[in-house]
Amino acid sequence: MQNIDAFKDFLRKPGKMVILTHFNPDADALGSSLGLSRYLKKKGHEVLVITPSDYPDFISWMPQQGEVLVYRKDRVAKIAELIADANGIFCLDFSALNRINDMGDMVNASQATKVLIDHHLEPQKFADFEQWDQTAASTAELVYALIDQLGDNSLIDPQMADCLYAGIMTDTGSFRHSNTTHKVFKTASALVEIGANPYQVSKLIYDTNTLERLRLMGYVLSEKLRVVPEYHTAYMVLTSEELKRFSSQTGDTEGLVNFGLSIKGIKLSVMISDRKENIKLSLRSLGSFSVNEMARAHFEGGGHRNAAGGQTTLTLDQTVEKLLRILPQYKDQLSKPE
Ligand code: 5GP
Ligand code: MN
Repeated sequence: MQNIDAFKDFLRKPGKMVILTHFNPDADALGSSLGLSRYLKKKGHEVLVITPSDYPDFISWMPQQGEVLVYRKDRVAKIAELIADANGIFCLDFSALNRINDMGDMVNASQATKVLIDHHLEPQKFADFEQWDQTAASTAELVYALIDQLGDNSLIDPQMADCLYAGIMTDTGSFRHSNTTHKVFKTASALVEIGANPYQVSKLIYDTNTLERLRLMGYVLSEKLRVVPEYHTAYMVLTSEELKRFSSQTGDTEGLVNFGLSIKGIKLSVMISDRKENIKLSLRSLGSFSVNEMARAHFEGGGHRNAAGGQTTLTLDQTVEKLLRILPQYKDQLSKPE
């Protein structure tokens, strides 16, 4: 962070702090938020984490997740009050205020000091303090780097370390994606030294599948995975009926899109699913092909170069049609072999 001395001044006075993260929180979103929450509490602040939607069971082991306030229509007035009264609002793992539904307007209207901690591309400029680095693999790393820069490493305890480690592990695809740098390993190593338990964290996140989730995975792979060889593209489409048939819970489809990208020669993989609110897309790519750009241009979304998301208010069929229709625009990039 550039204006670190001013930030230290801001933290000196105990205040009411609200931490917000993005819709459909993943392990990085929740882990970085809860890690930061514990730190801010140790610094004497009153802290509340608010998420725009609920989150999967495989991250609900995180320390203090029980204190998270999940946005619901019947809580809007209460949440509006909390955001308006806050002294500080920390926005973690997102940088576009439309990713937190109507809390975006509440943040805009609030007089609180705003802090952005994020690694997504092309951040919106609304914060007074920014810990933003698009080369960071996870927001959890940026929380660690900030605490380090503040000279407060000694306040990181094993529980915080587990939360931050979970964010790093999942956003790097278990240290496999192209964002896995030397710095990632250094931070992970520091967290393990403090007491993070890589075995436990990975078991809790990856090895707590329900039978239905595994069946859904098998079904998607055998029945729903399509390939467009000409454009080195794989895609999968899930209807709301199919999601219901496999009793799909929040987070059950997470990671499925990566299977498409594991096919030799595939450069773009897209998962399209019919959610209650809208049609949701998850996009993944290899190398220089930017799914961030594709999601921004066509699917009201964004993210990173190789992992992005978006949505449409079209029907499921129209969304698939749209995807297939736009592929030729990317012919030069997609049709040549990697
Ligand atoms: P996922 O496909 O796992 O939902 O998301 C992949 C990446 O894209 C994540 O870093 C996520 O934060 C980001 N992302 C997902 N949906 C959206 C969206 O609608 N808008 C933006 N700006 N980013 C998104
Ligand atoms: Mn992240």
